Amino acid sequence: MNYAVAALNIDHDPAAYSALYEALDEPAADALLDERERAVRSAVRAVVAHDVAPRAAAADRDHLFVHDSYRALAEAGLAGLIFPQRLSGTGDTNVAYAAAVEEIATGCAATSLVYMTQMHAAYPIMTAGSAELTERYVPRLVNGSLYGSLAITEPNAGSDVAGLRTVASPQPSGYLLNGSKTFITTGDRADVIVCFATVDRRMGRHGITAFVLDAAWRGLSTGKPFAKLGMHGSSTAELFFDDVTVPANHLLGEVGDGWRIVMDSVIKSRISAAAQGVGIARAAYARTLVAVNRLHADRLPDEVTSALATLRGQILQSRLLLYAVARRVDSEGAPATGEISIMKQTCTDLGFRVARDAMRILGPYGDLAELGVERYLRDAKVTQIYDGTNEVQRMLIGRDTAQRTGRLR
Ligand SMILES: Cc1cc2nc3c(=O)[nH]c(=O)nc-3n(C[C@H](O)[C@H](O)[C@H](O)COP(=O)(O)OP(=O)(O)OC[C@H]3O[C@@H](n4cnc5c(N)ncnc54)[C@H](O)[C@@H]3O)c2cc1C
Repeated sequence: MNYAVAALNIDHDPAAYSALYEALDEPAADALLDERERAVRSAVRAVVAHDVAPRAAAADRDHLFVHDSYRALAEAGLAGLIFPQRLSGTGDTNVAYAAAVEEIATGCAATSLVYMTQMHAAYPIMTAGSAELTERYVPRLVNGSLYGSLAITEPNAGSDVAGLRTVASPQPSGYLLNGSKTFITTGDRADVIVCFATVDRRMGRHGITAFVLDAAWRGLSTGKPFAKLGMHGSSTAELFFDDVTVPANHLLGEVGDGWRIVMDSVIKSRISAAAQGVGIARAAYARTLVAVNRLHADRLPDEVTSALATLRGQILQSRLLLYAVARRVDSEGAPATGEISIMKQTCTDLGFRVARDAMRILGPYGDLAELGVERYLRDAKVTQIYDGTNEVQRMLIGRDTAQRTGRLR
């Protein structure tokens, strides 16, 4: 065994970690960031180098929830980027947010999953909740003093959101919630849950309604976290609702607004997943670059140089796409579904493909936990599944194409 490779450990040397990723920054992508966005990325990178990356391998190995890593980001004031200052955020752009998630995923993909889930829970409360709900929950989700979950998926409804079966039965002073959710990130730890239910299954998407639940309410319980392929530092669990009384003032928007809220939320969550894909790809590429340079001290074989060149080009292309679509969200609010789906599918496929190709380039060394590339491969897989599977994204892209072109003859 080549001990130089096995001992490679940039995660525990913050100066080396930052220097490596600075050397790999691409001017063509940086040119799409303004000064503030570059400053946000630097601030996130510094916290990741000191507090997140050093914990990543142990969190994965021992299945430790990444509480300390997430807290470090929140304490540095970096966990509420897209929220206004009055709600403890920093009022930054979606581009800054994408660059931040990318940085975090590079250091620890599981931390990026916990980080983005906090945002996914807080965002619908801010956009659709009353002032009272917003002030009660959003600042504490953003400063890391509460954990939150966004609960859409059910055993028989995830891709098919309109088919969800959790029922909110109207009562004189609110709703009675019955049903269950599955695969909910941070579900077992959440203090607050944004939950989607139907007031009447016959109404399809028009019956879907969103509620903010306090996890301590009677009748609400959680399952044991699932054992997963990757993202071991995050938790994923079932939620059960057994006659949970929900006061009327915990409704988000109006009855039937749930579908619109989901569609609005997935724009943010698809930026998050896409940024994870780019961050994971960058980490797998960077580790491989360092490792092959140590393995082949004299000169890299041409086939290795050529394989790495392909990966670098693919990462740059996807990062340009990520920043360009995030910028469109900043300027347009809700750009066409097609471009959001192209971004999500392309960038998350990239993460998996680059991690897989990095392992191939490394041969047996790719299999070593010390190098961490196998961790990125395991973590990458689920980004192709959640926030709308990539098969569903391709279907949405096809629909968008048909809508724009009509039937071409
Ligand atoms: C680790 C993890 C974390 C998650 N976190 C959350 C969370 O926090 N909140 C939440 O609500 N959900 C969460 N999910 C759930 C996730 O978003 C869904 O599982 C995912 O969207 C797929 O939906 P589904 O479960 O209904 O699968 P299905 O739709 O049953 O998918 C099964 C297969 O069928 C394919 N398929 C389905 N429909 C089509 C179609 N129309 N065309 C082509 N192929 C299709 C899918 O691509 C897939 O290959 C998480 C899942 C995981 C694994």
